[in-house]
Amino acid sequence: MSSAERTIWIDGQLVAWQEATVHVLSQSLQRGSLVFDVMACYGEPGQERVFGLVEHVDRFLASVASNGMELELDRASILAAIAKTVHANPGSEGIKLSAYHAGVSLDVLPRQARPCVAIAAFRFRDIYGVDAPPERQPARLAIAATRKTPSSVLSPQVKIAAGYTAAAVAKQRALREGFDDILFLDLEGRVAESSTQSFFAVEGQGLRTASLDRVLAGITRRAVIEIAEDEGIPIRQEAPPQSLLESASEAFLTGTTIDVWPVARIGERKLPQPVPGPVTIRLRDRLARVIAGEDPRLSPRWMQPVG
Ligand code: PMP
Repeated sequence: MSSAERTIWIDGQLVAWQEATVHVLSQSLQRGSLVFDVMACYGEPGQERVFGLVEHVDRFLASVASNGMELELDRASILAAIAKTVHANPGSEGIKLSAYHAGVSLDVLPRQARPCVAIAAFRFRDIYGVDAPPERQPARLAIAATRKTPSSVLSPQVKIAAGYTAAAVAKQRALREGFDDILFLDLEGRVAESSTQSFFAVEGQGLRTASLDRVLAGITRRAVIEIAEDEGIPIRQEAPPQSLLESASEAFLTGTTIDVWPVARIGERKLPQPVPGPVTIRLRDRLARVIAGEDPRLSPRWMQPVG
């Protein structure tokens, strides 16, 4: 199926991919108010499973509510709409939920209170033009010159388009300087997260990652924490001091599109060889088994059937 044949669910209708557009003066485009969530889909047509399906839908609904948007849809109706969209688009690898104000507006507020909801189910080819993302080398992370937006300004739990502008600017600069992505520090100089990934460092025998008052509740982050607990790896959820970036024996990012991405370099510091190190390999490989349906304990909990 090519993108030309795909359909996107918009407010109950399946609309052709090319016709799923909004007006240039729409409030969400002009003010960045679109709220979204992205999840990964696996399996043959008719047997699709989504990693953390309910967790993603609940995070989307929480983002929507924090952004002051009121939807007519609840969790069950969004799950049903996702199933309909995936079945209409066999072979889907990714699903994106969006809530947005499509109507034109010059004011900071939309003219209609009720947002539109769209559900797109696609292959990576539809977005990137190639079947699989190219082989990923361990990440080189630049420390962003700008700081993570503090939660007193914007909750880190709101996945709103406008919340990503600083990350986009910082990542663009990092790519020009030969890095792959960025690491945001918070206003106190502690380590927060990457542009669109959670950050973990290995400190002694355990893991360290920022707490949820400072960073997004990544669904992959949650799965990796559950795996670490099951493996008996201690985990401390408290924003790492910047000095840990100099002393950590390993570091990695987690996220929907990258699973576990080992980190090779942070700013000028190269992490000790080999990269990935033993803790990263253990967590990465166990997560891969969970996703492949080969983990009797955690696969049934995380690989949730699409209706
Ligand atoms: N942090 C931010 C800021 C993100 O945008 C994302 C991507 N949703 C993540 C972390 C990783 O979250 P997840 O594991 O749910 O993809």
